[in-house]
Amino acid sequence: MSDQLKASSSVDAVIVGAGFSGLYLLHRFRKLGISTRVFERGGDVGGTWYWNRYPGARCDVESMQYSYSFDEDLQQEWQWSEKFSPQPQILAYANHVADRFDLRKDIDFDVEVTAAHFDEGARRWAVETDSGERVSAQFFIMATGCISTAQIPDLDGFDGYKGRTFHTGNWPHEKVDFTGERIAVIGTGSSGIQAIPVLAQEAAHLTVFQRTPNYSLPSRNVPMTEEYEHSWKDVYPAKRDEMRYSGHGSLKDLNDKPALSVSEEERQSVFAERWKVGGTIFLGSFNDILTSQEANDTAAEFVRNQIRRIVKDPVTGELLAPKTYPIGTKRICVDSGYFETYNRENVDLVDISGAPIERMTPDGLVANGQHYAFDSIVFATGFDAMTGTLFNVDIRGRRDQALKEKWNAGPRTYLGLMSEAFPNMFMITGPGSPSVKSNMVMSIEQHVDFVTDSIVHMREQGYDVMEPTVNAEDEWVDHVQETANKTLFPRANSWYMGANMPGKPRLFMPYIGGVGVYRKICEEIVGEGYKGFRFEAKTAAAAE
Ligand code: NAP
Repeated sequence: MSDQLKASSSVDAVIVGAGFSGLYLLHRFRKLGISTRVFERGGDVGGTWYWNRYPGARCDVESMQYSYSFDEDLQQEWQWSEKFSPQPQILAYANHVADRFDLRKDIDFDVEVTAAHFDEGARRWAVETDSGERVSAQFFIMATGCISTAQIPDLDGFDGYKGRTFHTGNWPHEKVDFTGERIAVIGTGSSGIQAIPVLAQEAAHLTVFQRTPNYSLPSRNVPMTEEYEHSWKDVYPAKRDEMRYSGHGSLKDLNDKPALSVSEEERQSVFAERWKVGGTIFLGSFNDILTSQEANDTAAEFVRNQIRRIVKDPVTGELLAPKTYPIGTKRICVDSGYFETYNRENVDLVDISGAPIERMTPDGLVANGQHYAFDSIVFATGFDAMTGTLFNVDIRGRRDQALKEKWNAGPRTYLGLMSEAFPNMFMITGPGSPSVKSNMVMSIEQHVDFVTDSIVHMREQGYDVMEPTVNAEDEWVDHVQETANKTLFPRANSWYMGANMPGKPRLFMPYIGGVGVYRKICEEIVGEGYKGFRFEAKTAAAAE
């Protein structure tokens, strides 16, 4: 830890991050009289929605579902204007929540937490920031999101490039004008697929560099109607309860038939119907799309045929049609006119599946032995997901063990909430919880409630330390992997598997057993006296 501290203070809890997790945590802690400091590296609230301001950014979970459920007045009063909300509106919502519950006064913006070390003697965390402050806290909570550390590939010549570069996950706040420019987009994940149609309308020419094609479903986004809004708001508490015990934390109509149990004709008609409705409900066309390769093949081929139908140039259409992994095993994308964009005169696709981009030059880049000149290059190249942001902080638990060291073969958590030897440190939607395989806001609320209730339990029982046992953690880690291995997910080189980061251990990081199943497991654990957790009572010294 640094010797050059400007200030030190002491609170009950330090929260890192003022996104959806940090805001709700602060709200709950404050109501319980838990003194709290929140540190946020961004200049304002919103987390993911603060950083990801790229053109076309929107959420592909329906607005009526991608929102807090903890306050009935809040969910009644806020009005979403579209079925799938654009980023500025979600950011406005985060700001509304911060103002409505008067949260800003306990948040330090533009401050990054650099280190957090557990002092075994004092049973407290020493948290250090880049502003030179040290805060002592009983509880340390990483509310830093799962997809927060943007990755730009390490390309030779990057520093010598004279044009502008951008990353979708760290987009400037002011409007970026691409009018008349030749631009490149590298990457065709959810971010690239959302940005490309919008950028193509503005740029003189757009070249997309594609390493792996992605399955993308049409969003069929529409303005919110009063009728649809009411169909939710009139029965919000009941709908939210249903969401809490659903598979993904959102209500989607899942067909309970296996794909091959119906005739070819019926199968095609189910796919066509769901393609027409739009959004991720396509993956619920049959109940075995993510567990049976044969079932998956039928859905994947349907989508490939849609791509071939939409894209006029057959060579481009074939390049855009994914064939190397099952549909849904990389994060499914949802788009507004993505494949249609390749019918524009000013858009080209460059396939770099055979060889990586060779280097950047002062005025562009070289790929497949050819030089391309660009005024701007947009990296839509993703994130060091799930663990990257946790490792950015020098977190050390018992015996000065670094979290990064303990997890060098992959994340080890109990329930994705805590890790043994890191007492009183919680992660909101950490690896080993449904997290990115769910409607994040629902999972965030569940974890915040779990953490808050645990602290209340500790206070009631006179405990001051909470930590999972080694056995409980080992069993959970195995369960997470066994559950993933029953699905097709491990067959894709996805960021869920850590496969997008050179050198990262390959294993499925989220818990795929389902949001409702997971919630029930958590409830049972609490019901059995926090089974798998150990507590330490207040010492005489700590009680003073
Ligand atoms: P991503 O899914 O990881 O996609 C990154 C893209 O960049 C991939 O196509 C990847 O190719 C490519 N890439 C990475 N490194 C490269 C390199 N060195 N050279 C060439 N191509 C490279 O990242 P993302 O699109 O930012 O999305 C991340 C996640 O954020 C999503 O999966 C989703 O969970 C979330 N998100 C959600 C929404 C939404 O709600 N609509 C929108 C945006 C993001 P490979 O596939 O070959 O690795």
